[in-house]
Amino acid sequence: MWFVSVTCPSCFEVFDVASPSLEELPCDMDYDCEICCRPLRIYIEESDGEAIGTAYGPGDSGPWG
Ligand SMILES: [Zn+2]
Repeated sequence: MWFVSVTCPSCFEVFDVASPSLEELPCDMDYDCEICCRPLRIYIEESDGEAIGTAYGPGDSGPWG
């Protein structure tokens, strides 16, 4: 099980989320912030053998546009 740290786009708190295995990356998933509970989206990609997560608001354009 991988965990990635992401920064909430609403409250700017950092929290960890479970990531799919590296073979399934990149992926994009819906999530609720663990601190403020607002919905957000998390894009997870593989970089140098590690999972890197980026959180953004559901109304924002993500890394995939
Ligand atoms: Zn939040």
